[in-house]
Amino acid sequence: MPSYAYFQGQIVPLEEAKISVMTNFMHYGTGVFEGIRGNWNSEHKQIYLFRLEEHYQRMLNGCRLLNIELPHTLDDLCRMTVEVVETCGFEEDVYVRPLAYKSSQALGVRLHDLDSDFLMFAFPWGRYLDTDRARCCVSSWRFPGEVPRAKLTGLYVTNAAAKTEAIENGFDEAIMLTPNGHVAEGSGENLFLVIDGKLVTPPGSDGILIGITRDATITLAREELGIETVERHISRNELYTADECFLTGTAAHITPVAEIDRRKVADGEIGKVTAKLQELYHDVILSNNPKYAGWCTPVYKK
Ligand code: PMP
Repeated sequence: MPSYAYFQGQIVPLEEAKISVMTNFMHYGTGVFEGIRGNWNSEHKQIYLFRLEEHYQRMLNGCRLLNIELPHTLDDLCRMTVEVVETCGFEEDVYVRPLAYKSSQALGVRLHDLDSDFLMFAFPWGRYLDTDRARCCVSSWRFPGEVPRAKLTGLYVTNAAAKTEAIENGFDEAIMLTPNGHVAEGSGENLFLVIDGKLVTPPGSDGILIGITRDATITLAREELGIETVERHISRNELYTADECFLTGTAAHITPVAEIDRRKVADGEIGKVTAKLQELYHDVILSNNPKYAGWCTPVYKK
């Protein structure tokens, strides 16, 4: 089944969406992207896009950092996304990649005097971390301090290096530290620990990306399990002594971490709190929980 893209103002087959080698953002990382999941509910025969508005709000915030002005409103972006995914017609989990970028065919390092454009495409994408229990390592790559935190294409170079280092050393994912040595996040996920019955996760002030799955996890823990989340610096040694650890992200959902730097997290099995959150989250993203139906945008018209 072919994928489609919204590209230069229209919906086209994905293979027709091509940009010039001179495009500014390709050279200087001057783009803002998002990753949105559409989750296929086979009983409802429906794809539900998870927290669509929040993803585009985060992208629009990133656009302000990069002086990218788009002619589209938040509502336009959400509507266009539903249209593209509907055109694709997939009956499986999909991933949507929106990108707002400096589109002028002009080189030169700057943000001013450049046109901007927006593209988006959808494609089937199953599991991201292909494991039920991730084995992680603390990366030798630290993410740079003093950078604007948004999903800027250029910022992902360090994450890519960290991920590859982890895979080449036999792990599933990297955990990056801040320049101060605090635990920050995975290469594409936020990180949570369970310590003394509470969730602990790094604060925004550590420079992490404020994940939408992170927010959903904090909300579900509080509302459904009565578990509080403490946002505070996490030291490296707490990774080795925590009761549970898991990663959260649009692509990775909630993935338990079984091992860090070849040390088991507790007994190396999926922790109780992690398992409960995974189950809740799974129900919510498939729109099987009416309380959170507002987080799910159905794609197909009945
Ligand atoms: N941190 C990084 C570096 C990421 O790339 C992502 C994925 N967008 C996340 C955290 C998780 O964010 P979200 O839950 O919004 O996907």
